[in-house]
Amino acid sequence: MEQHFVKIKSIEKITHDVLRIVTEKPNAYHFISGQATEISIDKTGWENERRPFTFTCLPTDSYLEFTIKTYPSHKGVTNELLKLKEEDGLILHDVFGAIAYKGEGIFIAGGAGVTPFISIFRLLQSKNEVGGNKLIFANKSRADIILEHEFKRLLGRNFINILSDEKVEEYAYGYVTAEFLKQNIIDHKKRIYLCGPEPMMESVEKQLSNLGVEAKSIVKEEF
Ligand SMILES: Cc1cc2nc3c(=O)[nH]c(=O)nc-3n(C[C@H](O)[C@H](O)[C@H](O)COP(=O)(O)OP(=O)(O)OC[C@H]3O[C@@H](n4cnc5c(N)ncnc54)[C@H](O)[C@@H]3O)c2cc1C
Repeated sequence: MEQHFVKIKSIEKITHDVLRIVTEKPNAYHFISGQATEISIDKTGWENERRPFTFTCLPTDSYLEFTIKTYPSHKGVTNELLKLKEEDGLILHDVFGAIAYKGEGIFIAGGAGVTPFISIFRLLQSKNEVGGNKLIFANKSRADIILEHEFKRLLGRNFINILSDEKVEEYAYGYVTAEFLKQNIIDHKKRIYLCGPEPMMESVEKQLSNLGVEAKSIVKEEF
C-alpha cells in the first residue's frame, strides 16, 4: 500500500459544511478525473483511520484539491478535518475509482456525490469540450449546493438543480422521481453517470431501468 505524507497548503469552507482542502502533490502521483484516494490525518490516533475522497483538481495541476462534506455528528475523520489548518499533515494512499469520462452524457449527483464530476467538468472545460453534457444535482437546500456558481458558468441551462427541502424559484422541488427523469433525460441512449448516497442511487437506477436505460450505459460509484 502506498503512503504519501503531504502538507495542507490551504483549507477553507466553501459551503456551511463542505471544506476545500489543497495539499502538496507527491512526486509521480497520477490520477485521472473521477478517481479518488484514501486519506488519513497525520496526527496521533488518526493515522490508520482512512476514508475515501475524490481529487477535484485537474490531473495536470501542481497541487491536489479535495472537496469534502463534513459530518461532525459521526465524530470521525471529516469532523477531525474541520480542526486542521495550513501546514498540518495528511497521508494519501493508492489511487482508485470507478468513475471516468466515457463520452457525452447526463451526470446525476446527490450531495457530495458530485465530487468525481468536478474534476471531469473542469477537464472538459479546459479542453473546450463541455458540449451537451448535463448535470442534474440533487440536494436538500440551496445552501448545500457545492460550486453552484462554477457549474452555472460552466453548463448554463444544462445545470439542473433539484432540492428536497427548500423551494427556490428556478429549481425543481422534491426527490428525483421517474417523472423528473423523464422530463430531463430525453435521449435514453445517452450515457448516464451516477454518484451519490446508496438510497438515492438505488432509487434512481430503478427509475432509469423503467425508462429503458440499459445498466451497461450507467457509469456509477456509491458514496
Ligand atoms: C470512492 C469514494 C469517494 C468519495 N469521495 C468523497 C469526496 O470527494 N468528498 C466527500 O465529501 N465525500 C466523499 N466520499 C464519502 C466519504 O468517504 C465519507 O463521507 C467519509 O468517509 C465519512 O467519514 P467520517 O469518518 O467523517 O464518517 P464515517 O466513517 O461515515 O463515520 C464514522 C463513525 O460515525 C458513526 N456514524 C456513521 N453514520 C452515522 C450517522 N448517520 N450518524 C451518526 N453517526 C454515524 C459510525 O460509528 C462510524 O464508524 C467518497 C466515498 C467513496 C466511496
